[in-house]
Amino acid sequence: MEITITPASPDQLKKKPSDESQLGFGDIFTDHLFMVNYASGKGWFDPRIVPYGDIHLDPAAMGLHYGQEIFEGLKAYRGKDNGIYLFRAGDNCARLNRSAKRLCMPEVAIDLFMEGMKKLILMDKEWVPRTEGTSLYIRPTMLATEPHLGVRPSRTYIFYIIIGPVGAYYKEGLNPVKIYVEDHYIRAAVGGTGDAKTAGNYAASLLATELAMKKGFTQVLWLDAAEKKYVEEVGTMNMFFVIGDEIITAPLNGSILPGITRDSVLHILKDWGLAVSERSLTIDEVIAAAESGSLKEAFGTGTAAVISPVGQITFKGKDYVVAGGKMGDLSLRLYDEITALQYAGKPDPYGWVERIGE
Ligand SMILES: *Cc1c(COP(=O)(O)O)cnc(C)c1O
Repeated sequence: MEITITPASPDQLKKKPSDESQLGFGDIFTDHLFMVNYASGKGWFDPRIVPYGDIHLDPAAMGLHYGQEIFEGLKAYRGKDNGIYLFRAGDNCARLNRSAKRLCMPEVAIDLFMEGMKKLILMDKEWVPRTEGTSLYIRPTMLATEPHLGVRPSRTYIFYIIIGPVGAYYKEGLNPVKIYVEDHYIRAAVGGTGDAKTAGNYAASLLATELAMKKGFTQVLWLDAAEKKYVEEVGTMNMFFVIGDEIITAPLNGSILPGITRDSVLHILKDWGLAVSERSLTIDEVIAAAESGSLKEAFGTGTAAVISPVGQITFKGKDYVVAGGKMGDLSLRLYDEITALQYAGKPDPYGWVERIGE
């Protein structure tokens, strides 16, 4: 499929951020976007790169009423050689298609996904920032567009990709975050949509997160829906706990999002010869470890923040300081290793990194 390109006119070009060290997250988008339409019986058609701007939707578009929306999040990185690199982008496409299946939405061919994304990034390559720690965030999105009221899968969709330069995800940077163990609200249940990157999961998480933030926490740590006993994940990050010599993360049992950073961390830890387990872990075990001093570190993993160390866990009104409230050695070592790979600062033994241009 030929991607048609309509470049932005000079008056449509936006002002690039003047100070990259001040970049936030998710507020700035580049001059263009990639879009393609789908109709059942016809498949995907009209792939195009057009000036960034509003999209037109019928007010009855099914995605707005019944939540058929899925997305992805990945980044492009500017290496020291000025090259632009993608990290495990094919895995994001595969995950998008798993989300699509779960939400009865059409899959996107990997070639179309990759070609549209790469062409868009290279067209707006001057937007890929150069300052250390910055990157270009990429947000592939699919939405049901058929104007119809009535619960069934839509027959038409749009898939689009928007991109924008970002700084560190958290204002605190690598400073440890305070997390609140949520024992009333839940994020997702086994059998539900927790393992799909779909809008409804995040809408469902807002209230508990708002309440926790009002009390001074950065994020909530979700427990399993059935027993509120096992730790699952945090916000938009998977969680790891270092207890004694064991590094533990929750298994992919259907209610947590299969993070690509989580998977990268698992590979790297195994290669370092460390004891890592994907197993159910109760909050009681975490708290007991915190009390006995064997909880060495806890950290979240996700594309946005890479590694986000936890400095305090609050459960049932009691605060537990983790790693002295500082970033632990393992968290830092993982952060350095993964970012070195992403920015092509060291050889990639995994085949995760792809140079797409400069
Ligand atoms: C995106 C996301 C993650 C992290 O996934 P990565 O692929 O590592 O970015 C973890 N949990 C949730 C709920 C997410 O939405």
